[in-house]
Amino acid sequence: MTEAALSNDLPFPHRHLLGMQSLSRGDIERILDLSEGYVDFNRKGGPRRDALSGRTQINLFFENSTRTLTSFELAGKRLGADVINMNTEVSSTKKGETLIDTAMTLNAMHPDILVVRHPDSGAVALLSQKVDCAVVNAGDGKHEHPTQALLDALTIRRRLNRLEGLTVAICGDVAHSRVARSNIHLLNTMGARVRVIAPPTLLPTAVAQLGVEAYTDMRAGLEDVDVVMMLRLQRERMSGAFLPSVREYYHYYGLDHEKLACAKPDALIMHPGPMNRGVEIDTDVADDIHRSVIREQVEMGVAVRMAVLQLLTPQQGNG
Ligand code: ASP
Repeated sequence: MTEAALSNDLPFPHRHLLGMQSLSRGDIERILDLSEGYVDFNRKGGPRRDALSGRTQINLFFENSTRTLTSFELAGKRLGADVINMNTEVSSTKKGETLIDTAMTLNAMHPDILVVRHPDSGAVALLSQKVDCAVVNAGDGKHEHPTQALLDALTIRRRLNRLEGLTVAICGDVAHSRVARSNIHLLNTMGARVRVIAPPTLLPTAVAQLGVEAYTDMRAGLEDVDVVMMLRLQRERMSGAFLPSVREYYHYYGLDHEKLACAKPDALIMHPGPMNRGVEIDTDVADDIHRSVIREQVEMGVAVRMAVLQLLTPQQGNG
């Protein structure tokens, strides 16, 4: 890996990263190419870089997170930023402060970058209009989770050498999934074919407008796909009954070796985590060392987030 692979001389044409819909193919390729350099950098270990030295990154999470929060924290620290995690359990939001008040308060402390997760769709975009720094959407309600789609794309591109022309099946609770939405936008932009597979109650109402082929029969939907992307059943976002029972869901939509046999023999198995083993995915499939790239997705997450943080803090981002 050369230093040139980690440099960032050209301005990135976006101030924030709020969703995949606003990114061009060139923007996505640029993020993925820079991320490749950070995969090598992270594997080698060694001293942190100083691309974000003197910069302040605040991670403001109004929803639980394991992978995303940890990897944004690591990413910022490996680039030399001062990273602060705002715990909303103990912050003023619990005392009734509104999202905008919180944003304005943090803004007054002059951070350089805010990484925000919020349970409401659109909340992160709203917040970005009120602050002076770069904002990264780390997941807003059912809307978008752009860095997840980017890390998924990096994982696929490294394994299968391309995105264009691949057929990717996104399976499970599509209706409540920001991961699905961001992946659909990214994969469509990059020229992949996207299928979504779900029971009718878990397909989004406007699925036809998403540019995907929709299936309710999992075996038919998995026929000859290159990638199988499983989604968690997001019960925290369901109001009312979407499923007769978890057992029945697993029977029809849980990924096991028998259903997987419909996909291409070397199809990749992905899951954004956290996994519900025995609900949307069988343990043997999740842990299949030949097919499952679930751990690799986590590794790619740190690299992609380093690239995104660097690209959104341009003035000192050249080092
Ligand atoms: N971790 C992902 C998200 O925050 C997926 C999930 O929670 O199921 O959206």
